[in-house]
Amino acid sequence: MLLTFTLVLFTAHHSLSAPTNQKEFDNAAKTLIKYGYLDNNYRNSENMEDAVKEAVMRYQEFAGIEMNGNIDDNVKMMMASPRCGVPDVLNYKAITSWPKNSLTYSIRSKSNKLNSGEVSHIIRSAFDIWTKYVDLKFTESARYSDINIHFFTGDHADGSPFDGPGSVLGHALFPPYGILHFDDDEDWNRSIQLFQVAAHEIGHVLGLDHSTVKGSLMFPYYNRFKDFTQDLHQDDIDGIRSLYDENQKKCRSVTSIVLLSGKYTIFFGAEYYRNGVIKKIIDTWPIATNNMNKMRISQYEDSMLFFHGLNYTKIENGTTVQRVIKTQFGISGPVDAVVNIKGRLYFFKSGQYWVFNPNKYPRIANTYPKSISDFKFPADLDTVYYNENRNILVAIKNNKVYMYNFMTKSVSISNLANIFCF
Ligand SMILES: [Zn+2]
Ligand SMILES: [Zn+2]
Repeated sequence: MLLTFTLVLFTAHHSLSAPTNQKEFDNAAKTLIKYGYLDNNYRNSENMEDAVKEAVMRYQEFAGIEMNGNIDDNVKMMMASPRCGVPDVLNYKAITSWPKNSLTYSIRSKSNKLNSGEVSHIIRSAFDIWTKYVDLKFTESARYSDINIHFFTGDHADGSPFDGPGSVLGHALFPPYGILHFDDDEDWNRSIQLFQVAAHEIGHVLGLDHSTVKGSLMFPYYNRFKDFTQDLHQDDIDGIRSLYDENQKKCRSVTSIVLLSGKYTIFFGAEYYRNGVIKKIIDTWPIATNNMNKMRISQYEDSMLFFHGLNYTKIENGTTVQRVIKTQFGISGPVDAVVNIKGRLYFFKSGQYWVFNPNKYPRIANTYPKSISDFKFPADLDTVYYNENRNILVAIKNNKVYMYNFMTKSVSISNLANIFCF
């Protein structure tokens, strides 16, 4: 389904020269892939060096260090520092929470570093910091539970082996999985505090992803959240409330989902949701249209494109230009959905689609329009987005999700449930 989150083991080798030595480059590429900054198949890309440079820049931006695109000492230091094993850049998580407020948890395996009573007490306190702000109840159980906690070392058969002391401290899956693993090669409560790591990982188990806000518990690096004691950062509070505070939640009709700087940005009406926060579109992008409910949005090269009626607005580096869709793209607006797939724009309208390729002439081949049934999608879609790492095109219509896999050319269908309620 749309929100499932799978851990995948990646390996990376390449043969081009790099500014750092080969081994350092390979290690850095592996880390970038592991945390979602770089595509697993980056070596097959025509612009491999650009792809790596851009990934390094996104990594630097997230970590809050100098953004020069080089695997420099800051990057190497950051990559070696202890952190959570959950990727920073998620490929298809949107918003996910448990559909119930009362959850059980179980500590399924023991730590070799701390006694069971101590562990049980720490885990309890780590759950409690979240329940201060939302109406959630956690009950420890001896049986297999909603949330199952393990201490593991090395390879533990989930595709994400632990790595000995330091570096990865733990990892967790988002709802509905309830899986939380700690690396028991850490010197728990001596060099690394279990409480802080547990509180962070529980954030993931409850549905939060990594925050770029320094000082928040959900920042991925331990050195930045190790001083956390009792109270959540406002960023964590906003995040958890957006998931579980029913009074603040409203179900939205999503018009567009766009991946911006590695985070899914969800547009609905005149507003958008990103990083747990709802903002007005016009506060970020100056759009002049009186029908935002029908607007469709895509990211394209260095610009944002807002399609409304027969026209579209292009915003690039603060410059706004309005044009006619037909003049530029050869398709008459309005369109149902637009998505950027590897630099090409796919337009969907009724039962047809067109692919606009800026590097070909004509930019829309005369074999288009083609039938939307190529993707096994229904006509008149609500919105479409692309998950690059999994190479899946996701279409949404009437609370149903259609996931088209480009590799297998098959589609899987699931119900949307309440993921767009926030
Ligand atoms: Zn994390
Ligand atoms: Zn694991």
